[in-house]
Amino acid sequence: MNTQGNKGVIFNIQRFAIHDGPGIRTTVFFKGCPLRCWWCHNPESHKILPEKFDGCNLRRGFDQSFSMEKDDVGKEISVDELMIEISKDRVFYEESFGGVTFSGGEPLMQSDFLTKLLYDCKMIGIHTTIDTSGYASEDVINKIADKADLFLYDLKLMNDSLHQKYTGVSNQLILKNLIALDQHGRKIIIRIPIVPELTDTNENLFAIRGFISYLSNVVEVNLLPYHKAGEGKYLRYGKENKMSNTESPEIKNLKNIKQFFSELNCKVKIGG
Ligand code: SF4
Repeated sequence: MNTQGNKGVIFNIQRFAIHDGPGIRTTVFFKGCPLRCWWCHNPESHKILPEKFDGCNLRRGFDQSFSMEKDDVGKEISVDELMIEISKDRVFYEESFGGVTFSGGEPLMQSDFLTKLLYDCKMIGIHTTIDTSGYASEDVINKIADKADLFLYDLKLMNDSLHQKYTGVSNQLILKNLIALDQHGRKIIIRIPIVPELTDTNENLFAIRGFISYLSNVVEVNLLPYHKAGEGKYLRYGKENKMSNTESPEIKNLKNIKQFFSELNCKVKIGG
């Protein structure tokens, strides 16, 4: 299987998305992620290759024309095929100042495929957003930085040992890449998962706000409350859910966090 260049592996296409960047968007979910966040809502995205699961139906959320076998998660697709899917809703992008968002999983894991898609979108004037954990090599960041219009960039835990414990990787590369993107002058929306007792601690939120305050191109901060919507997927795909005893954060708490981040010189929103 060729997962580089002209072909890639995705596991969903969501049309008319309104929480993954400006306007009405098509969100393309890339398969494969180097992280293993305890609170992940898309555990089926982790492995890069297509997988078969008994009894799941990944056609939910897909456009009917984008066919996949009933029990498959992930499908190999070419740049040209995907551009046909993306281009179908061009009129809505134009009217709403929307576009396409490449999400996942981690889209930077298939950087050659992503680069070609970004190029093709630019050629026909489609706005592009990359939703990323930021965990990629410096080369990949430099290659992608000037090709996308906007980055949705996750900041999860500033303490490196906690980051390693709850996501499986160090945060050093992620922080370094965020500084590099900022220096490239790219527009960035920071996304913070608000997970009770894990990311939602005074120490962590202070450290995140302090880090953001040194960046020049953060246009918005999104607070993404943990919710249990992904719980069913852990059952469906037979994966261990380490968060089964965790509840969603209270709205009053979210409002306090929003107030706390409003000291930064940018918009702050609860949700994407
Ligand atoms: S970075 Fe995103 S897709 Fe990857 S494990 Fe974490 S939450 Fe899931």
